[in-house]
Amino acid sequence: MAQDSLFDPIDPLKVHTKPPEGHSSNSRLERVLRQGRFAVTSELNPPDSANPEDVYDAARPLSEVVDSINATDASGANCHMSSLGICSLLTRVGYSPVLQISCRDRNRIAIQGDVLGAASVGVANILCLTGDGVGVGDQPGAKPVFDFDSISLLRTLRTMRDDSMFLSGRKITQPPRIFIGAAENPCIPPYEVRAERLKKKVEAGAQFIQTNYIYDVPRFERFMARVRDLGLDDKVFILAGVGPLASARAAKWMRANVPGIHVPDHVIERLEGAEKQGEEGKRICIELIQQMREIKGVSGVHVMAYRREELVSEIIQESGVLEGRHAALRGRRARKLET
Ligand SMILES: Cc1cc2nc3c(=O)[nH]c(=O)nc-3n(C[C@H](O)[C@H](O)[C@H](O)COP(=O)(O)OP(=O)(O)OC[C@H]3O[C@@H](n4cnc5c(N)ncnc54)[C@H](O)[C@@H]3O)c2cc1C
Repeated sequence: MAQDSLFDPIDPLKVHTKPPEGHSSNSRLERVLRQGRFAVTSELNPPDSANPEDVYDAARPLSEVVDSINATDASGANCHMSSLGICSLLTRVGYSPVLQISCRDRNRIAIQGDVLGAASVGVANILCLTGDGVGVGDQPGAKPVFDFDSISLLRTLRTMRDDSMFLSGRKITQPPRIFIGAAENPCIPPYEVRAERLKKKVEAGAQFIQTNYIYDVPRFERFMARVRDLGLDDKVFILAGVGPLASARAAKWMRANVPGIHVPDHVIERLEGAEKQGEEGKRICIELIQQMREIKGVSGVHVMAYRREELVSEIIQESGVLEGRHAALRGRRARKLET
């Protein structure tokens, strides 16, 4: 089969050229979504190291199977290599990352500067998050900033891109060409306000959404029904978050300790009844991907598994979701730079 031109490696400098008609960036993710393809993204969990090879090692298994790689921003309020550092390394070798920005650690002056810096090195996707509170991390004494929340951050990025201005009104001579996203937690109460919260994010500028892990499909379907009622499925691309559960014990722990994640009893019972719980967790994740594909208004999946990038790659390939596409993000140039 001929190589799908969607997956030619990007040239970081190309992101500064005029985007295609109707696009706000030269992002590969935006292009895949606007072409109506089922997009696949995953996250790279940042190393506790200053070694670039640690980033490339984590990215390598994902590079063949995803349309974009998210670089998390101190999720769980734990310090790791920065999202901006990871994205700079990834764009240097032709990957197409999503820069995640949490509002917890930086004020508006720092964030607007980071956005320009990121765009200058070829970052074309940014995910806007309020972020986990400092209290859940391993340095709870850190000073929380929260100058913005996700909504004001979305508005700021849109202003910078569309009006070529900082929040102060000062002109930006070359605006960042970025595809702007946000997160959503569809499966935690209060359920009835989840879609309305999404609407606010869309009105503030969100063009794509990546959700938290979904294990409760009927609950997510109800959320999507409300999203469609509000007409949001025509305004924003929704990527459903999925991930493999390692065991029933891990699933119970997640349910009890990770805000935003609901693992229903029947999923835990299925894991408990399995001979190899890890294998069953992988099968459940593959089934979830296939189910998500059938839900109207879902444009893709965001496959997450903390520091298990090889497993994510297997899941995506075995799910059949790539439909024979050659997701070779890593081209000749990337390989040369990496070796
Ligand atoms: C895909 C994904 C990636 C993530 N990556 C990171 C990361 O890199 N770093 C990190 O620190 N965290 C990360 N998180 C965690 C995320 O910040 C929390 O899950 C957060 O609670 C919800 O996302 P948000 O940041 O967009 O918050 P928001 O949706 O902006 O919510 C912020 C606050 O508003 C409240 N709120 C939420 N919904 C409503 C509503 N309907 N009405 C009124 N108030 C409401 C919440 O309680 C919360 O305190 C990620 C989450 C997801 C789903």
